[in-house]
Formats: sequence, C-alpha cells, structure tokens
Amino acid sequence: MRAVIYERREIENGSLLLKTLGESGKIKNFKIPGILKSKTRNSYFLAPATLWEFTLAGNDREVVTPKEYSLVHAPYDFNTGYRELTRIRELLNPLAGLKPGLEIAPLFDDIVQTLYDWHCGDEVLENVLINRFYLGFLRHMGLLHYLPECVHCGAVLGETAQYHLFSGSICTTCLRRQIYRENEFLPNRWIRDCLENPPANGIFSREQESAFRQKILNFLKIST
Ligand SMILES: [Zn+2]
Repeated sequence: MRAVIYERREIENGSLLLKTLGESGKIKNFKIPGILKSKTRNSYFLAPATLWEFTLAGNDREVVTPKEYSLVHAPYDFNTGYRELTRIRELLNPLAGLKPGLEIAPLFDDIVQTLYDWHCGDEVLENVLINRFYLGFLRHMGLLHYLPECVHCGAVLGETAQYHLFSGSICTTCLRRQIYRENEFLPNRWIRDCLENPPANGIFSREQESAFRQKILNFLKIST
C-alpha cells in the first residue's frame, strides 16, 4: 500500500514509529525496527512529507512492521535546509487532527498531489499550496461552509464579508447583529481566492496568512 508519512518518532532500541496516511485515507502506523542503529540502512527519508510503498505481511494490527518498503517520492533532498523542511512540516499540520476511525480517500490524493507540486525554496508556491491543502482539508472533513451568500440573510457577499469558522460566510450587516469571538473569523475573500483563484502575491501578507492557518488548526483541534 502507498502511504504518506506525516509524523516520525524514535522509540525503543533505535526503532522508528511512523504515522502515515494510507491511500484509502486511513491512518496507518508503521514500526521500522532498529533502523537508527543500522549501519546499512538509511532513515533520512523515513520522515514527514515522503510517499512510500509499504508491503504488508497481511496483518491488520494497530502498529505494523512492513515486510518491505520503498521510497516513491520525496519533495526534498539531502541538501534541503532547515527552513524549507519547516515549511513542509507546516503543510502537514492539519493531519495531526485525524482520528483512527476516519477514512477519507480524497485527503490522500490531495497530500500526494501537493507533494508532487512542491518546489523547495519557491515561497510563493509553498504558501499557495499550504493554503489550498488547509482549506481542502476542512472541506473533506465536512467543516468548510464557504458560500457566495450570507448564511443568515442570503445577501451577496462583498469584499469586507467575514468567514466564521463555526457558522460560515457572513455579511457585514449581520456581523453587527451577532455576537462572535474575533479569533474565529477569517476574511471571506481569502477563502474565496484560495479556493478559486490563488493570487500570485496575495492581498494578505505571509504573516497574516500564517495566522489564518493557525486559526484553522485551533478550530480543527476542537472540531475533530
Ligand atoms: Zn447577512
């Protein structure tokens, strides 16, 4: 089975525990015994944001030791710097909210596509891809309520409309009538642009967009 690693942890006896998202869209945990002590096997790419083919021995326990495993794709190489690796980690953050029982195949397709589109060092592209993945994640989890009209009154939304993470898109008139927490809002146009037409040099700064994504992660923590 193909799977994308999104978390790597060292466990006893130089072994690695890898959390992966499998091609069926389910979490799968793999144990690679003794690899960190091995003189012949390299563990560099057994790390987040790489795509692997794992051959299983037919068991379906919670943690599986694969019979064989081979790298299919890595969006970075041995020379990639710390900053670039940090950016790829940011891409994977929403996956930490996945629960074992879930099975959402489009999530796997999205992350694989993103890893193939990724070019280390192209900051604008990285930002567009991270935004797209975060919003796609919300949509696949059934948690995105973006609309071109206000969820309360049906008015067509202007540029100043806001998106409330729990309620959906809201016009400025209804915003004045309702009481919401400020930290649960994103600009509606940011969501629209990310979904429909990602701007090459967005209206918002990278710092602002990073703060928007942090709000999405906080929302996922309490919603999944
Ligand atoms: Zn309204």
